[in-house]
Amino acid sequence: MPSPLVRRMAGFDATIFAEMTALATRHGAVNLGQGFPDTDGPRVMLEAAKAAIDAGRNQYPPGPGVPELLEAVAAHQRRFYGLELDPGSQVLVTVGATEAIAATVLALCEPGDEVVTFEPYYDSYAATIALAGAVRRTSVLRFPDFTVDEASLRAAFSPRTRMVLLNTPHNPTGKVFSREELELVCGLAREHDAWVVTDEVYEHLVFGGSTHLPVATLPGMSERTLTISSAGKTFSATGWKVGWVSGPPEAVAAVRAVKQFLTFVGSGPFQPAVAVALGLPDEAYAGIAASLEGKRDLLVAGLHKAGLRVSVPQGTYFVIADVAPLGAVDALEFCRELPARAGVAGVPVSVFHDDKEAAVTLVRFAFCKRDEVLLEAVRRLEGARLA
Ligand code: PMP
Ligand code: GLN
Repeated sequence: MPSPLVRRMAGFDATIFAEMTALATRHGAVNLGQGFPDTDGPRVMLEAAKAAIDAGRNQYPPGPGVPELLEAVAAHQRRFYGLELDPGSQVLVTVGATEAIAATVLALCEPGDEVVTFEPYYDSYAATIALAGAVRRTSVLRFPDFTVDEASLRAAFSPRTRMVLLNTPHNPTGKVFSREELELVCGLAREHDAWVVTDEVYEHLVFGGSTHLPVATLPGMSERTLTISSAGKTFSATGWKVGWVSGPPEAVAAVRAVKQFLTFVGSGPFQPAVAVALGLPDEAYAGIAASLEGKRDLLVAGLHKAGLRVSVPQGTYFVIADVAPLGAVDALEFCRELPARAGVAGVPVSVFHDDKEAAVTLVRFAFCKRDEVLLEAVRRLEGARLA
């Protein structure tokens, strides 16, 4: 039989998250690989989902999303960023941010169009760009600062640039893009008349003095920006898969046209529950970030103690460490062995790169775990030096 997988998906057969979680399960390892919290989100949100099921909201919700969630997303963008959106035409609910990304890239890109993105990139970006038959053009963010390199960013743009696919706060680096960096990206997007699609799923997971700047708030950007977010990260509900995309009405309509044939709709009773969560007071959001900041500090301190060089993240729930001092020469091999050898799972950063050399010994660890779990992981890593 000929190979069943289309050529444009070659190399995208299994995600690193599935592979590392399977290894962690098999070896009973502490899973700091795939990014999901090990505690539940706000109790009122969980109760609202149960109430929605009991109230019979178990059939197809409306295609664009349930009205109270569309309203809640618009109210959220107004409350936190001063952005005005018409819930009826400028917001679309999706099955997680993953579907929002896929539907957006498939809706906006013709085969051969170029998409500029930074590497390391979230894995679904590369796969989705490939599915669309588009071409990714990247600029590398380098450990340990991950600052934007202007020359390579400029070089990534061309007359074929259709879209910039940005992610801030950034997975896997934990970087929060500065105003200057975003202005550089946006200036180039305007120069090339490109769309900017900005994945802001970690918008509330920002630490210390750092501030998340939504791209749509920058001058002249709201008319060419599609903003994506999700309840998974903010409210510790990664399994609910409730995401959304917002932006100019014509662009949202284009994304909706594709989205309706991917899933039509999803997450019925979870949608009104996420609307409840989005309406929580500012202190609830601040509490989520503060608790995570403590976990960041705990894991960073532990990784230092284990002798590793670490890039301290300003946002997200990931930290990148250089595992060379543990004797690693190739992080992919190292991560494949680590669950069995030390009882810890991480993710090799090189899988998010075209330029694998930029991350040969870098590993991403997730810190969205209970403190005792993080402490146990650190204890195990301290004993993980290769013979
Ligand atoms: N974008 C980024 C940067 C992510 O880290 C993730 C994973 N949470 C997603 C998108 C996917 O989000 P969701 O689980 O809502 O589909
Ligand atoms: N976003 C999560 C991460 O980066 C994982 C999502 C997934 O498993 N596809 O770890």
